Amino acid sequence: MSIQQNLHHIKSTLPEQVTLVAVSKTKPVSDIMQAYEAGQRVFGENKIQEMVEKQEQMPKDIQWHMIGHVQRNKVKYMASFVSLIHGVENFKTLKEINKQAKKHQRVIDCLLQIKIASEDSKFGMSAKEASEILQSNEFSELKNTNVIGVMGMATFTEDKEQIKKEFTQLKTTFNHLKRFKPDLKVISMGMSGDYPLAIACGSNMIRVGSSIFGERNYNE
Ligand SMILES: *Cc1c(COP(=O)(O)O)cnc(C)c1O
Repeated sequence: MSIQQNLHHIKSTLPEQVTLVAVSKTKPVSDIMQAYEAGQRVFGENKIQEMVEKQEQMPKDIQWHMIGHVQRNKVKYMASFVSLIHGVENFKTLKEINKQAKKHQRVIDCLLQIKIASEDSKFGMSAKEASEILQSNEFSELKNTNVIGVMGMATFTEDKEQIKKEFTQLKTTFNHLKRFKPDLKVISMGMSGDYPLAIACGSNMIRVGSSIFGERNYNE
C-alpha cells in the first residue's frame, strides 16, 4: 500500500480524540511530502539535526514533534519552531528548553517522559520525580515551557499483558499528576505495533512510523 493509503487506513480506525504523530525519522523529504499531500501535518523525528534539516525544506504549516532523546546542547537548534517535545527526561532539560524558548519569545509545549518499560535502555523519569517537578517553586517560574502531559514507551516484547500493564501504569501516573497540574491533557503512548492497545488504555496521542512509511533501513 502507498503512504497515502496507509495513512488513510490508520486514520479511519482512530477515535476522534486521538492525535496521530507520523514518525518520519530516517525517511526522505519526498516520502514525508506524500503524507503531507494526503493531509498529514504532525510529524515526529527523533534526532534534532535531522528534524532541523527537514523543517528547513518543508512547508511551514507542519507541526514538528521531537519524540527522541533530547540532548541539552542541541535544544537551541529546534527552539524556534518545534511544536511539542515528548522526551523531557529530567528537570535540567526542561530548564534548558525554557531558556532557549525565551530567546525566541515562545512558549514550547512539553511532555514529561515517564519510564514505564522494564528495560534499562529506555529513558525517562519516575512518577515520583515528575510529581516533584510539578510541585516545585522552580517549575512554577518557568514561563516559556508548558508541560501538557506525559509520554512513555513500553518494553519491546511480544507479551501483550506486560505492555498493557505498562500503558495502564502511564495512565495512572497521568491521573495522579493531574492533581498537581489540572490542565494536563496529553498521554503520548503507542507505536505501530501497539497503538490500538495504547488507545484502549487511554492514549490520546500515538506515534506511528513504520505502519505509514514502511520499515526503516538504518544502513541507507
Ligand atoms: C521510532 C519511534 C516511534 C515509531 O515507531 P514505529 O514502530 O515505526 O511506529 C515511536 N516513538 C518513538 C519514541 C520512536 O523513536
